[in-house]
Amino acid sequence: MNNEGMLIVLSGPSGAGKGTVCSKLLEKNTNIALSISYTTRSPRPGEKNGVNYFFTDKENFERMIKEGCFLEWANVYNNYYGTPKKFVEEKIKNGQDVILEIDIQGAKQIKQNWKDAVFIFILPPNLEELKRRIEKRGSETEESLRLRLMCALDELKALSSYDYVIVNDDIDKAVEKLQAIILAEKCRVYRNKDLINKMH
Ligand code: 5GP
Repeated sequence: MNNEGMLIVLSGPSGAGKGTVCSKLLEKNTNIALSISYTTRSPRPGEKNGVNYFFTDKENFERMIKEGCFLEWANVYNNYYGTPKKFVEEKIKNGQDVILEIDIQGAKQIKQNWKDAVFIFILPPNLEELKRRIEKRGSETEESLRLRLMCALDELKALSSYDYVIVNDDIDKAVEKLQAIILAEKCRVYRNKDLINKMH
């Protein structure tokens, strides 16, 4: 078997339900680790440091950029977000799959630097539903809501550079599709070189 884990990138507009799909997937799959990002945005009610994000300030984030701590980072909705490099590299090396829930700018950077990552895009069933979901969150200011909706439309343009798309109209079905994609990807011949070598 190939002992290295697989890097899975999950993107989609704010309100597509990436977070819910992801946490349901993790409940069912113990060999997948979710990378916890660093961010300079403030915690929403109920969010915990080290669970949802590592919340930090701009100064520390910029220092971490300079020190090369991030696998990728981006400015999303006027805040910094970044994936910790060491965590991801260690998990993958130890054979665990890692899922990144990141925006399209971050996904683009991963595509350039990580040759066999899998790119999955989560879509809301339609734009009306997307708007409803973002509004329902209730934590956004008028301005932030407008920005998120505008960015959501922009994010959709990146869809064609992803490998898979999942329409999240039913949460259980969306999780099933995500599991199916991961399973199929793990069966790819090039991910099983060691197994094939043993046959010769
Ligand atoms: P939110 O503020 O709603 O938690 O996240 C806003 C956006 O930032 C989402 O699209 C989310 O996927 C993205 N995001 C979260 N963490 C990271 C990260 O580490 N890197 C990048 N590039 N985007 C991230």
